[in-house]
This record gives sequence, structure tokens and C-alpha cells, in this order.
Amino acid sequence: MPEPQLLEQLVEQARPLLGRGKVADYIPALAKISGNKLGIAVTTPDGVTIGAGDYLEPFSIQSISKVFSLTLALTLYEEPEIWDRVGKEPSGHSFNSLVQVELERGIPRNPFINAGALVIADLLQGRLSAPKHRMLELVRNLSGNPQICYDKEVARSEYEHSARNAAIAYLMKSFGNFDNDVDTVLRSYFHYCALRMSCADLSRAMMYLANKGQSLAGKQLISPVQARQLNALLATSGLYDGAGEFAYKVGMPGKSGVGGGIIAVIPGDMSVCVWSPELDLQGNSVAGTAILEGLSQSLGRSIF
Ligand code: GLN
Repeated sequence: MPEPQLLEQLVEQARPLLGRGKVADYIPALAKISGNKLGIAVTTPDGVTIGAGDYLEPFSIQSISKVFSLTLALTLYEEPEIWDRVGKEPSGHSFNSLVQVELERGIPRNPFINAGALVIADLLQGRLSAPKHRMLELVRNLSGNPQICYDKEVARSEYEHSARNAAIAYLMKSFGNFDNDVDTVLRSYFHYCALRMSCADLSRAMMYLANKGQSLAGKQLISPVQARQLNALLATSGLYDGAGEFAYKVGMPGKSGVGGGIIAVIPGDMSVCVWSPELDLQGNSVAGTAILEGLSQSLGRSIF
């Protein structure tokens, strides 16, 4: 466990980076968030969480939800039912690209780009009568915070600006890789992205990735092998086409979202979440990446 003063220091060291990135504005409700936020929380397998900066303030988790939706799908489906429909390779394109989906006949490269997460949302829709409710229950249980909610305004704002995600879903449907009604699945997907959680909530919720599939409450959510495999996918694809740079600088499996959050884990050791809303060109938090880089350097920790 790092010292609390180290976390304070890392936050202060990242402050001069504010202004270098850009808050996501393609979802208008997200553009309202102040870019000045900086937070980090770290949780250890014994359940202790420490944090610094704005680590208790809830934010829109956006694509970090793609980790939870894949995890939920792994609890509901046999693996071939998932991996026949979505790949395990880095995409090399932006997270909301249609190009690769067209070139590769409707099969998205991985579950952490929008196309892949839409397939996963389609799978959840196919097997759950109330997928939004189930997802909320999952994140509340994993983090131990029953207050976690959907931000209805963000979900609506995404729905009103959903042309690109709808295009991706219909493109996949044209190749036969989308079973349910597109509109219904989009509404669920936007809700998952609109979950509001703090760095403390997320670092606690992600502990199962650092603890062989077991949640903080002691539930075996996925098998140890599945947790290891999920971490492999996060290390190769969790930060889109910034995954190589992130592996180089930070050296932890991680997942970013356009709300400015990034979760990362060192298996066996800790789960971390950072938050700062200004993004780089790949859609990853600028100051958040710097805080994680500082953490891995200060602790001398990396999975590599
Ligand atoms: N809700 C966002 C979208 O679908 C998620 C993208 C992200 O966080 N990278 O565009």
C-alpha cells in the first residue's frame, strides 16, 4: 500500500498538466464538467482504500463500464458464445470507429471499443430481463456502495447524440452480429456508460481483477483464469490505440473512459482509479495517466 502522502504528492505533481487536454464534448452533458478535477484512490486486497484529491466525487464512468459488462457476460455465457462474436486484438483505430467493423465483416476487434461493447450489451439484453437493473446491482455489490446511480441526464444526452453508435450497431446487424432491437440495446449501453461512481467506488469495485476474480465481499465473480485473461485484454486494448503508450509508461492492465477516469490493477497487490476529465487525442485522461505513471515509478511496480 502506498503512503497517503505519496498520493497527495502525485496529485499535486499532475496539477500543472491541467489545460493540456480537452474535456469530451461530443456528449454535451459531459462537456459541463469542470476540467480541474484530479483524484486517485488505491484499494488493497484486505479492503483498505486510501485516496487523494477529488477521489470521493462521483463522475461518469463511461467506457470503464465495458469491464463490468464483459464480466457480467462471462457469468452468463459459455466463452465461445462471446468470443465467436468479438475478438481479442487491439483495434488500432479510434474507440468509436466503424472502419474495422466493416473490413472485418461485423466482428469487432475487442470488447473495450464501442463496437465490441455494443455486442456485449446485445448479449446481456438477450439473457437478462432487466439488464440495467442487473448492472447497477453488480457495481453496487462490487464497490459496497448502495448509493451508486445512473446519471439520467448523461444517458439521455448520449441517446440524443447516438448517430455513430447506432451506425456501428446497424453495421454489425447487417453482418448478422446483432440479435436484439438496436434502439433497446443502445439505451442500455448508454446507461452503463452513465453510471456515476467515484475513484474510491471504482478502485473497490475493480478489486476482483487484482484478486483472482474474487470481489472485496469475498464473492468469486469469475474464475482466477478468467481474471488473468481479462487483465491480458485490458493490458492490450484497455486504452484503445493508446494502449502501447500506457503499457510503456504505466505497465498495468487498465481501462479508460471519456469521463476522464482510468482504472488500473497490479494483480495480487492493488486496484487503482484516477480521475481527471481532460483527455488526449485517443480519449484517455492526460493528468490521470501522469498520476498512474508517477505511482508505478514511485512504487517501482509494473506487471512487466
Ligand atoms: N459512451 C461513450 C461512447 O459510446 C463511451 C466512450 C468512451 O468512454 N471511450 O461514445
